[in-house]
Amino acid sequence: MNTYQRIVLAARPQGEVLPEHFRLESVPVPPVGEGQVLVRHQYLSLDPYMRGRMSDAKSYAAPQPLDETMIGGTVGQVVESKNPRFAVGDTVVGMGGWAEMSLSDGAMLRKVDTTHIPASAYLGAVGMPGMTAWYGLNHIMKPKAGETVAVSAASGAVGSIVGQLAKLKGCRVVGIAGGSEKCAYVVDELGFDACVDYKAGNLRADLKAAAPDGIDAIFENVGGEVFDAALARTNAFARIALCGMIAGYNGEDIALKNVRTLLTNRILLQGFIVTEHMELWPQGLTELGQLLAGGKLKFRESVAEGLAAAPEAFIGLLKGRNFGKQLVKLA
Ligand code: NDP
Repeated sequence: MNTYQRIVLAARPQGEVLPEHFRLESVPVPPVGEGQVLVRHQYLSLDPYMRGRMSDAKSYAAPQPLDETMIGGTVGQVVESKNPRFAVGDTVVGMGGWAEMSLSDGAMLRKVDTTHIPASAYLGAVGMPGMTAWYGLNHIMKPKAGETVAVSAASGAVGSIVGQLAKLKGCRVVGIAGGSEKCAYVVDELGFDACVDYKAGNLRADLKAAAPDGIDAIFENVGGEVFDAALARTNAFARIALCGMIAGYNGEDIALKNVRTLLTNRILLQGFIVTEHMELWPQGLTELGQLLAGGKLKFRESVAEGLAAAPEAFIGLLKGRNFGKQLVKLA
């Protein structure tokens, strides 16, 4: 019998995620029914939101059920199709989960062109993370040329795109990232004007030096001290796209101290969930795709090899061990 491997959620973490919260299983390849498509995954995307789904606390999305394939974005090739919209060999993006294969009715599958854009980029710069950057920047921060934009987790999948898009708009862009290697990449490769290493111990002073005219718009990915430091540098009428608070995803205390600044600087703060703005995805993904194919957007990937490596890679993502978009190569 033909089988494939998948990873299910075995237990819900309390605090830190551990390998034993996952279970690797072999399951039979299902028969393809009328209207269905069987996809062999080339890459699995690992994303911070998965930590939220592992918990059954009330959230904007339903929890990941126990003993079922972990949720996840995938790109791969159609290996069998009984759906007229898809042919064998098509490269498709979908939510195939932590598995080597998935069967789908095609409703959530998107055919993509890999002539000028590598397949893996459809899970990063030209996928959900890129779209997240595009939405927060264009629809919440709305920066003007000459303004200073700050972005945390700056070397990551979302942050790296935020900063490059803001540079294309003529902004001064200041990144915040963990470690000198990530900061060097953000400035030297991605073209940010400055990057502050929050692990170096002088976050506030370093941010002041990097943003001497204050900060007009923040793209917040981290929360806690990193967010507080950026808030302390805001100018009047600053806009904040509150995208993520990864510093607190394992239950850490990330309470803000500078809340008063929201009032005194008359700040506009908007949290958002990118999947609630699907009507904008075609426009955003087209723009991102054109920029990438035209060499105007750079991206970097951390690639784990094989499905069995996914739990450790995911645990690493929550600790900043990834350097760029975290993927798992499956085929
Ligand atoms: P990244 O590729 O940026 O990887 C996560 C990075 O976060 C790590 O590399 C690390 O970078 C940083 N990090 C991890 N733990 C901590 C910590 N304790 N303190 C500070 N930084 C930490 O991930 P993504 O680009 O995919 O996601 C970035 C953010 O965007 C996340 O908060 C995510 O939840 C959010 N997001 C929100 C969406 C939405 O719709 N609202 C959609 C997609 C993502 P470093 O080493 O520099 O600290």
